[in-house]
Amino acid sequence: MPDRPHLVRAVKGTRDLLPPGTLLWQRVEDDARQAFEAYDFKEIRTPILEPTALFARSVGVDTDIVSKEMYTFEDRDRESLTLRPEATASVVRSCLEHGLLADGGIHKLYYIGPMFRRERPQKGRYRQFYQIGAEVLGSDHPLIDVEVIEMLESFLRGVAKTGVGEFNLLINSVGCGRCRQEYVKLLRRELEPVKATMCGDCQRRAETNPLRVFDCKVEADQPVIARLPTILDYLCPECRQHFEAVTGELSRRGIAHQITPRLVRGLDYYTRTTFEITSGALGAQNALLGGGRYDGLAELLGGPPAPGFGFAIGEDRLVETIREASRSIAGTPDWEEDSLHIFVAWMDHPAGIASNDLARELRAKRLKVALTYEPMKLKKSLGLANRYHARFAVIIGEQELASGCYQVKDMKTGAQQEVKREEVAAYLQERLGA
Ligand SMILES: [Zn+2]
Ligand SMILES: [Zn+2]
Repeated sequence: MPDRPHLVRAVKGTRDLLPPGTLLWQRVEDDARQAFEAYDFKEIRTPILEPTALFARSVGVDTDIVSKEMYTFEDRDRESLTLRPEATASVVRSCLEHGLLADGGIHKLYYIGPMFRRERPQKGRYRQFYQIGAEVLGSDHPLIDVEVIEMLESFLRGVAKTGVGEFNLLINSVGCGRCRQEYVKLLRRELEPVKATMCGDCQRRAETNPLRVFDCKVEADQPVIARLPTILDYLCPECRQHFEAVTGELSRRGIAHQITPRLVRGLDYYTRTTFEITSGALGAQNALLGGGRYDGLAELLGGPPAPGFGFAIGEDRLVETIREASRSIAGTPDWEEDSLHIFVAWMDHPAGIASNDLARELRAKRLKVALTYEPMKLKKSLGLANRYHARFAVIIGEQELASGCYQVKDMKTGAQQEVKREEVAAYLQERLGA
C-alpha cells in the first residue's frame, strides 16, 4: 500500500479565518463601509498584483518593505510583478491611469483587502494581512485632514457596537519639501558627533535618511534621539499655518490629540500632517492605524501634482482589539456565536417534503434556516436547534401534516404555538423583526 500523501498546509505566516470568527470581520467591514460612505467615500478595488516598479518608486528601494519584505517574482514573460505590500501607491496609480485627477475635483476613495509582506513570523503579524484604508486626492485643505480623522474617530468608537476601547491620536507635521530639507541638514549635523554611539541601523540612517532615526526602537538610542531637534520647530510659515489649522479645528471639534514632534515618516513624498492612532488595549507601541498627507506621491508616479491624504488600518489588529475590548462588556456580543433564525424539525418522510418547501419559502425572505436531510427524532432535532442557537423551531410531523397547522417553538422561552401552515412565514417574520 502506498503511503497516504501528507496534508497540504497554509503557507507559513498566512492563516485561515474561519467561522464564527469571520462574523466579526464582516461586521468591521460593514461598519467601515457605513462610516466612510457617510463622509461620501466610494470604494475602489485595485489589483493585488502590480508592476514591481510601482512600489520601488513610491515606497522607495531603500526601505525594508521594498528591499526585504516584498513578494516579488518574474512572470512568464519576464515582467517583474509584486503582491502589493500596501495600497496607497495602487490607488494613486489607478487615479492617474484613469485620468481622475485631471478634473480638478476632490476624490474620496476607500479600499478593503489583503496586503503581503514577508516579515519575520511573530505573534499577531501575518504575511498576508488585511488593511482598511482611504485616500482623499485633489486638495491639501486642512479641513480634509480634520474630516478624515473625525471619520476615523467615529468609526473606532462605534465599530461592532463595542468600539476599540481607549485610543490615542498622535499627530505631527513633517513639513514640506522646502522646510524639511533645511531641517534634515540640521539633523545630519546634530547626528554627526553622536552617531558612532548609536545602533547599526541608526548609523546607516544618519547617512542615507536621517529622519528614519526616529523609527529606532533600540532602548539605548532613545536618550540620544530625545535630544535631537524636532521638525515642528523648523516648519516654514505655510506648513506652520496648515498644522495650526488642523490642530485648532480638531480642538474645536473636541477631538483629543497629542502633538508628537518625533512622529515622522521617512518617505520623501510625505508632507505636513502625519498621524497615528494607538490603542490603550495593545500597549503604546501598537499602532492601530497610521496616515498622513502625501502631496508629492502623484508626481513621483509620473502624474501631475496632486495632493493626497489617507490612512490604513491594520484590520487583523483592529479585530483583535475589538475582541479584547468586548471582554470588559457584559453579555456575549452578537458576533461571538453563529446565529440561526429557524430550525425546521421533521420526523418522517412525508413531512420531509413539506419541511423543505417551508425552508425554501423562509429562505426566500432571507431568514436563516437550517434543517436535516434525513428524518430525526424530535428530541434530537431540538437538541440540534439549540446547538445552532436557533431562535425558533418549526416542528412538522404526521399530525401537523394532517391538520395543516405547524408547531412553532420559541427556543428562548420554550413556549409552543400552533400556526396555520400558510401563516408560518409571516408569524416568524414578525417575531424576528425581519
Ligand atoms: Zn514647509
Ligand atoms: Zn538606533
